[in-house]
Amino acid sequence: MALITGASIKTLIVDDDEDDLFLIRDALSSVETTRYVITASSSPLLAMGELANATFDVIFCDYRMGAFTGVDFINNVRSAGIDTPIILLTGISDQNIDAEALKAGSSDFIPKTALTPDALDRSVRYSLAHAARQRLLQSILSNTRSGIAVINVDGQESMSNAQLEAFAQLAFGSTPDARKLLVQKAIECDVKDILIGNMAFESHVTKLPDGALLLTLHDVTDRVNDLREKASAEERIRAIAMQDTLTGLPNRMAFNSYLDDCLADAAQNKSSVAVLLFDFNRFKEVNDLFGHAAGDHILRHAAEMMRRTLDHGEFCARLGGDEFVLVQKNSDLRTAEDLSLRVVEALRMSLKWEDKTIEASVTLGVAIYPQHGSNRQELLANSDLAMYRGKSEVDMTFCIFDAAMDQMIRERRSLAHDLKSAITNGELSLDLQPQFESGTGLLAGFEALLRWHCPKRGNVSPAQFIPVAEDGGLIIEIDRWVLNRACKLLKLHNWMPRLAVNVSAKAICQASLVGDVKSALIENGISPKRLELEVTETALIQDLNRALHNLRQIKALGITVAMDDFGIGYSSLSLLGSFPFDRIKIDGSFIQQVENNDRAGAIFKAVVGLGFALNVPVLAEGVETAAQLEFAISAGCQELQGFHFGRPVPQASLPYVCAELHGMISLSTFKTFQERGREVADAVQPLAAKA
Ligand code: C2E
Ligand code: CA
Ligand code: CA
Repeated sequence: MALITGASIKTLIVDDDEDDLFLIRDALSSVETTRYVITASSSPLLAMGELANATFDVIFCDYRMGAFTGVDFINNVRSAGIDTPIILLTGISDQNIDAEALKAGSSDFIPKTALTPDALDRSVRYSLAHAARQRLLQSILSNTRSGIAVINVDGQESMSNAQLEAFAQLAFGSTPDARKLLVQKAIECDVKDILIGNMAFESHVTKLPDGALLLTLHDVTDRVNDLREKASAEERIRAIAMQDTLTGLPNRMAFNSYLDDCLADAAQNKSSVAVLLFDFNRFKEVNDLFGHAAGDHILRHAAEMMRRTLDHGEFCARLGGDEFVLVQKNSDLRTAEDLSLRVVEALRMSLKWEDKTIEASVTLGVAIYPQHGSNRQELLANSDLAMYRGKSEVDMTFCIFDAAMDQMIRERRSLAHDLKSAITNGELSLDLQPQFESGTGLLAGFEALLRWHCPKRGNVSPAQFIPVAEDGGLIIEIDRWVLNRACKLLKLHNWMPRLAVNVSAKAICQASLVGDVKSALIENGISPKRLELEVTETALIQDLNRALHNLRQIKALGITVAMDDFGIGYSSLSLLGSFPFDRIKIDGSFIQQVENNDRAGAIFKAVVGLGFALNVPVLAEGVETAAQLEFAISAGCQELQGFHFGRPVPQASLPYVCAELHGMISLSTFKTFQERGREVADAVQPLAAKA
């Protein structure tokens, strides 16, 4: 005898045939391993009543019950929301109803001819197991957060869960076809993410072994929104990072990426791109004279003018300072020239600032891809070259790069390279050009003029290498060297009344200048009165406040300061008012024109008159002829300098000058010295080595 295991199984039997009822009850009761607790019902209606009052584990139901079939009963039970497994009992004539029964939801069917205890018990156990699996599946489908549907091979939805319906409503609203639309959309899109209205779904379609499609949808709206927010924040940050804060124009970073894109396109389409670099002429002076707010005002106004001036395919960015750049797509020489002219015109401005008027203008340098450069760096460098070229020519508002400029810059670079080692290799020396008092004809002093003997190039003129040294910053070191050498010469030749040293624009603004001058004087034990510094107005204007601050301290040491090259700069008169210069040196170009240009003569006389009024002695530079000497003296110049009295003396010749004349040099004796020629200098070379 087998043991009864597990709980008893509550069973409802529905059959209108009393005999059959008895038969089934009997069979179930004799199952040895399971205890069946049986309720019998002779009609489907009564059975529904039983089901309303109690729950059952399993139902046996006859297929034929008068007008009622077992399938009708199953439908009734299911529509009452009861999912108890139902086993149909069929007569011989009903053998073909299996498909219909299964469709209606029966768990199994047993022919009434085979109602043995074992067959019934086995069917019950299978039905219960099946029901349990079914319940689990249902529970999964209704509890999952994914929308699920199965679409059979005919394209019909054979199953879907409530979540899918909910998604459909969210996506399409409460239209009756919402679910169908959603399923259709998901199956049609082969992309993983689908966006419908405000909703975003991640969709997976899997082919099942029978060819049906399993569709699962996950709601990723929140994740997508987060990403969208992040992307738009990134976009905003990018936009901010790409914009110049002062003008609102694209900045250097934006320009870099824009031009790189244009060049990549142009390389593909075999088209040209023009890069037009420009800055304002004398912008620094505007800043110095009117203040930085005025400078900013010009830059903002310029940006506005650019926005109005540019056409389609033209781009403008501010690179920094007063430097702007334009990019023109599908360009050629003619369109680049046309754009240059438009920009020059738009930015030739007279701006009101407080109660003053500021005049502004720009110069452009143009380089065109591919002929003037193959990448951004080359195009920028070459447009920069062209711009500087443009600025060096009077009345040139824009300049298009050419290969000769490239050659020029190569040459400058190589020069700068050689110049670097000039100091340490002892290739620098000083020539001294005497200056005379026009009244007595006696020596007033010398100007130290730098000489570079490059072993590779021979003698290089300072007019050539000083600008190169100024560009590279090497000039500071050079100026320091000249200062020290000049002080050594003053120490060595104590008969020398005064030695003037040229100070470059860069050095005059250096905080270290005053210290350098002091230590050169102290080291050599020189009286400050014997040292003079020559500064040009162009040098001063670069950073006027700094330069004046330095000059005042230098003057306080007792050193004299001369204004060099007077008359060819920009704001001579206002500068003369801002600092008490000890000497004005009228630029040589004036005296050299007085013989055939009345205006030059008039200006020359006016400058001398100005010096007289300010009580500042005036020195005429570049006196080359007797007629010029006479003019300078008659105009009232106190001092004279120029080739008329002889060429500058190499420092090596100085010991000879000293020995010969014992410091009592006059104009005539100096000339005698000059006539003896330079061989004298060679003769005293060993002496000079001490200097
Ligand atoms: P600068 O300061 O105006 O110097 C005068 C220049 O005019 C010198 O040219 C001199 O040789 C030349 N000169 C003198 N008399 C006459 C004349 O009668 N006729 C003509 N045509 N020229 C005359 P240099 O030595 O070639 O110097 C050129 C420029 O280089 C100088 O102009 C100065 O700006 C710069 N320089 C020269 N030495 C130094 C230096 O030691 N330091 C710095 N920073 N600059 C220097
Ligand atoms: Ca000078
Ligand atoms: Ca000069």
